[in-house]
Amino acid sequence: MSENIINKMSYGSRDVNLLDYQQSCDDFNWQTDPQQILNIAYQAVDRHLNTAIENKVALRWLSKNEQIIDFSYRDLAEQSSRFASVLEQFSFEQGVRVFSLVGRHPLLYISTLGTLKFGGVFTPLFSAFGPEPIRSRMEIGEANILITTKSLYRKKIAAWWHELPHLKVILFIDNLEKSSNADSPYSELDKGCYWLAELLTNANSRYPCAKTHGNDMALLHFTSGTTGKPKGVIHVHQAVVAHESSARYALNLKQEDIYWCTADPGWVTGTSYGIIAPLCLGVTMIVDEAEFDIERWYNILQQQKITVWYTAPTAIRMLMKAGDDIRQNFDLSALTFIASVGEPLNPEAVRWSEKVLGLPFHDNWWQTETGAIMIANFASQPIKPGSMGLPLPGITAAIVKRNEQGHVEAIETNMEIGELALKQGWPSMFRGYLHREEKYQKCFQDGWYLTGDLAKCDSQGYYWFVGRADDLIKSSGHLIGPFEVESALMEHEAVAEVGVIGIPDKIAGEVVKAYVALNPNIECSDDNLAVLKKELKGFARKKLGAAVAPKEIIFRQNLPKTRSGKIMRRLLKARELNLSEGDISTLESDEK
Ligand code: ATP
Ligand code: MG
Repeated sequence: MSENIINKMSYGSRDVNLLDYQQSCDDFNWQTDPQQILNIAYQAVDRHLNTAIENKVALRWLSKNEQIIDFSYRDLAEQSSRFASVLEQFSFEQGVRVFSLVGRHPLLYISTLGTLKFGGVFTPLFSAFGPEPIRSRMEIGEANILITTKSLYRKKIAAWWHELPHLKVILFIDNLEKSSNADSPYSELDKGCYWLAELLTNANSRYPCAKTHGNDMALLHFTSGTTGKPKGVIHVHQAVVAHESSARYALNLKQEDIYWCTADPGWVTGTSYGIIAPLCLGVTMIVDEAEFDIERWYNILQQQKITVWYTAPTAIRMLMKAGDDIRQNFDLSALTFIASVGEPLNPEAVRWSEKVLGLPFHDNWWQTETGAIMIANFASQPIKPGSMGLPLPGITAAIVKRNEQGHVEAIETNMEIGELALKQGWPSMFRGYLHREEKYQKCFQDGWYLTGDLAKCDSQGYYWFVGRADDLIKSSGHLIGPFEVESALMEHEAVAEVGVIGIPDKIAGEVVKAYVALNPNIECSDDNLAVLKKELKGFARKKLGAAVAPKEIIFRQNLPKTRSGKIMRRLLKARELNLSEGDISTLESDEK
């Protein structure tokens, strides 16, 4: 394994010191008291008032049409106060459920912070959702307020929102000047709908932060729906303690950084690391309104002099697919640390980034349920490409199995596959699946939170992702994780993306089948594809052995993915076996 370690002695000032990591783990103490008054918005914004950074740029917004707007920490404090006071004017009380259905717009950030400051509960939704997933999530979450745009409202909400008993107010974030071309711009709105900018103008910019307690509900996030129906995950204000410390440890984030998190605000990463953690640490964060575009992204890295960049494997694979030449046109020398989350990061992607971007991606692992990063490749530690890294200080992870009495036990065996579990009790641990208490309770046993992911742990304590518990393939007595097979195929120069599943087989039980998307420069004639298929099978056999290599390979233009960019293996399987596709509310359009 040692030849696969990226030892970062060679990376400038970053030194390798295993003891430091051990020491911080040993010395770590969460120091949280659930009864203590604690508010995420205070920690993220108000705390910085009257300090050296109150006038520093907290958020730089890059609009789709090349406009740049800066917000200082004071601006965010005042604007979020205004939002909180708007909630008060509507006579809402602490605990009010505020949903958003908007892209990366400044008012999203202000509303999130304002809701938390007021003591409300914030839930972001992905703005590309259709009416049904929006409605069902708002029903489950008992939404009181929705923040959106007028056009999304007209297309997706107007027809049914009055049927939701708790939903009272819709706030439009649109730019007033643009939207108000009639003589009386405000009169045309439906009952219950308001222009947010207008309300903010007349609101109190010094609204005092609510005295919430650590255990008060703050965020409700829906999971990605990769394995089934999305769940509403409850988080409390205390989570901020983990947001802040994990960003310091796992993203190497410091106050002087210029930080860019590319996650959509509709998912937990967009809140934990796209709003809360960077503001807690007093950094300048860049927010780009536009969607992924290779040239634009390289431009942002260069022009904004991004120092810390947090992105996801799908985006990284798209950069790889675009080829290496384009990168040469950009100066990325400001970058000091780059990290990835959301899906397994193939070792090939880590090696590519080291070669082409000049520094390696640091993979890290967490879930909506964990609220914050739990396992990471650290700046101060060697990277093992393909590994998720080491547990964060304050986090106890283990590979567990059930013993004969049915109890969950940590297993010591080096690199044996088992379920990844975390010792329960860290501050950002979820406090429930909304309205699904039984499901929540099932996630915990004998003091462990059972993640539903399978992994292995090596002798140095690094964790290796194997697959979702449901995705594990059992073939002729072998346990095969899809990630291992996908990563091997990714090493072939023709391959852009792979999804691997097990399909039933009379003799072997299951055999491995791979769905492969090819790089754009590959000639797709029937003859060439037939040759390539053979070549890929041989390539995989050589790397993995005949028992593990795919028996069947299918080429696809695109693979089905969630809107947060995760390959939906369960859908590949359902389609393969002609089974029901289940909940596909988070599916991005794909080619079947
Ligand atoms: P659902 O629970 O609705 O099926 P989901 O699990 O994809 O959806 P999220 O909470 O957004 O919803 O994703 C967490 C999951 O993503 C993890 O349990 C893991 O399977 C996967 N994941 C996240 N980061 C990594 C990583 N670095 N390596 C491998 N897998 C990862
Ligand atoms: Mg999950």
